Amino acid sequence: MTYLVQYNKKGCIGAGACVAMNPERWELLQTGKAELKGSKEKDGMFELEIGEEELEKMKAAAGGCPKEVIHIINQETKEKVF
Ligand code: SF4
Repeated sequence: MTYLVQYNKKGCIGAGACVAMNPERWELLQTGKAELKGSKEKDGMFELEIGEEELEKMKAAAGGCPKEVIHIINQETKEKVF
């Protein structure tokens, strides 16, 4: 199973919760915005495909974000996981 992480960087306020929860994938830049490591920009959104093994930590990052700018979609069912 693979999942698509969608990150709307414009809405990020640099709170850093995602970095605290999942430092392997999130980094706070000097611009005051978080970066989703390994993601690609598509129409202003940043996207990254992850496997099952990364899902729990990515959910924790998404759940910690006070701006709710991180979403996760199951690529098989198209269901929103977060
Ligand atoms: S938790 Fe949300 S608002 Fe905070 S740095 Fe991460 S993406 Fe940005």
